[in-house]
Amino acid sequence: MSSADGGRVRPGFRHGGGTVKGFVHKDQFPRPNLNDSLEGEIQAFLTDEDQLHTYDDLTKVNPVTPTTVLKCLQARYNARVFYTHAGCTLVALNPFQPIPDLYSVDVMKEYHCAPQPQELKPHIFIVAEEAYRNVQGQLEPVNQSLVVSGESGAGKTWTSRCLMKYYATVAASSSVVKSQDIVGRIERRVLDSNPIMEAFGNACTLRNNNSSRFGKYIQLQLDRSQLLVGASVQTYLLEKTRVACQPANERNFHIYYQMIKGATDEQRKDWKMPCGQHFVWLPNAEKTVEEDCFHETVEAMVHLGINAERQREIFRILAGILQLGNVNFSPSTDESQPYFLQRAAELFSIPTEELQLALRVRTLKAGKQSVLKPCSQTECSMRRDCLAKVIYAQLFEWLVAFINNSICADKSMWCNFIGILDVYGFECFQLNNLEQLCINYANEKLQQHFVAHYLRAQQEEYVSEGLQWSFVKYQDNQSCLDLIEGSTVSVFSLLNEESRLNRASDCKMFRVRLEKELCDNVNISWDKFSKVPHFTVAHYAGKVNYQIQGMVEKNKDPVPPELNSLLQKSDNSLLHQIFTDKETDNMTSKGLSKVTVVSKFKNSLESLMKILHTTTPHYTRCIKPNHDCKPLTFKKEEVIMQLEACGIVETIHISAAGFPIRIPFTSFLQRYGLIAKYSNFQSESDCASKYTLSLCPFMDKFVLTLLAFVSQLDLLEDQRNKI
Ligand code: ATP
Ligand code: MG
Repeated sequence: MSSADGGRVRPGFRHGGGTVKGFVHKDQFPRPNLNDSLEGEIQAFLTDEDQLHTYDDLTKVNPVTPTTVLKCLQARYNARVFYTHAGCTLVALNPFQPIPDLYSVDVMKEYHCAPQPQELKPHIFIVAEEAYRNVQGQLEPVNQSLVVSGESGAGKTWTSRCLMKYYATVAASSSVVKSQDIVGRIERRVLDSNPIMEAFGNACTLRNNNSSRFGKYIQLQLDRSQLLVGASVQTYLLEKTRVACQPANERNFHIYYQMIKGATDEQRKDWKMPCGQHFVWLPNAEKTVEEDCFHETVEAMVHLGINAERQREIFRILAGILQLGNVNFSPSTDESQPYFLQRAAELFSIPTEELQLALRVRTLKAGKQSVLKPCSQTECSMRRDCLAKVIYAQLFEWLVAFINNSICADKSMWCNFIGILDVYGFECFQLNNLEQLCINYANEKLQQHFVAHYLRAQQEEYVSEGLQWSFVKYQDNQSCLDLIEGSTVSVFSLLNEESRLNRASDCKMFRVRLEKELCDNVNISWDKFSKVPHFTVAHYAGKVNYQIQGMVEKNKDPVPPELNSLLQKSDNSLLHQIFTDKETDNMTSKGLSKVTVVSKFKNSLESLMKILHTTTPHYTRCIKPNHDCKPLTFKKEEVIMQLEACGIVETIHISAAGFPIRIPFTSFLQRYGLIAKYSNFQSESDCASKYTLSLCPFMDKFVLTLLAFVSQLDLLEDQRNKI
């Protein structure tokens, strides 16, 4: 009964009742023939097809196979039921259209006040409420994490927003009388962080009109009375290349389109952005964006304390980047050059000549002497793009830091947190770059957390406790992670070494070394005849081709030192501040960042994993029912791939066969010892097992569930008293 999550009681929320005999693994459940709707093995199950939508928990489906799970989810989707339990996981199907009243305050209250929320219809609010009640713990409080995963467009950000709104409502409702002012403001500010971060960090992509181009872990800070008193946000790897280079048919970050649509004439004048001006870095501007979004972003900025002067500085910096995008370095346009460059310089509040010089001329250091070397046309363009990217990324970091300052409570005010993780979904284009490698690596890490925490730990625990258990096989992605991040020879280690060596032919060398040093690894392969050099990684969610060209350079992410020092001279106080504060110890004398992109990303993910391991996790798997983002359209082939990728069938089997709650021996005896008549025992475990063994074996689960129910009542009573 000890537990892998720090020995906490997990009060009797969702649990399955069936048991599994023998081994189950995805190989034993070949992908169903989707055209053949009535397979022999599931005849019985499907005879009751009218009732399929009534299965609230997939652990109750019998037999559990990819076909039955898929059928059940499809029936529910068609019946407009979008949430389904899959044992320890909640499956959330994206309706791709607003569902009236599904997320109203009344519904929140219904779930919050229910004695047994799990008896209500499956909903994201059940997960939210479970985490909220678990925070209190039985003996001591326990931090919680809500891990929301799924591919791009599946609904992670939407779900995270719902969760935040839920806590902003229920964690405040009991405080209205006590401190409406303070708490009211903090809830508003926490929620207001969303429109700002989405404006600056989300963009319209081919897969999702509001795709998050950064990862986010937000910790909602709760005080002893479980009131929301603050929050802190950690972000991961903003896709800054987008500011200077938008993939075909995609767009730049939302904020630019909001500015274009929402600015007043006066603002346009101030930003040197006349109506109808064409901006190279603003493709697909004609696609509609609600004009209100700009006002919503500005309003959120005001709520968070960004004053009018700061806002002006922010928007002028953004406008300066757009002007920079129109600067062209072809020799024929040389003379007309100053037009856009001058505007950019004015908006950045730096001298035009100095900007021109910094973009066109490189300073080489030879001992104590400096030599000036004109840059080629390509080099000039690279420097221009680099300038735009570094400014945008620094501005984003500054915003996140500002938001944190505004919403983070003093450590003395809070004792626990509920973390919500919303990272970019798994990405697979025809050819992929370093950004996708990092994104997919993050998804591998999360999958590993799930596998380690739930699939592996739970089963190992049963075995170590001597419980009867038939091992359920699952797909372990450790070998893929070793391939990507391993400390000896891995894609990251080779990439970092090539970045450090800084050779002229780094891409070629990277390719040669990959093929030579990782030739025995089954998770990586090459198409030697392909025109575009690439390698293929077999991720848990599928195979992805990564383009080798440009990867080493992206990993180095160099910022020419001339650009850095120029921005430090800016009269725009924000620009000056963010480049003066920028960690100078990250830079070598040549201006190259010592910390490569992948090392930095790996470190930040490792810190995140450490935090996740100290919390009790709750998993929500968002599923995208069709890739065209059409309302209420369920494409079986697309859904089954997502279900397979996250190992949902294995999860259901383990959940169905597992024990509903786990209580550490000490807590068990402390709480229920009085009713155990044993006094003569050698250890706590001895006593606990004697106690449970004294009951009829098949009663174990029943009794434990009953005890969990009692503890739930205790919890509710406590909560009621507080209110
Ligand atoms: P990415 O990885 O690209 O950031 P995501 O998983 O965060 O993708 P979302 O932006 O949350 O995806 O969802 C995509 C779109 O799907 C939303 O903009 C919204 O239109 C719709 N959507 C998602 N969940 C729901 C829901 N529960 N109800 C109604 N619409 C939804
Ligand atoms: Mg998102």
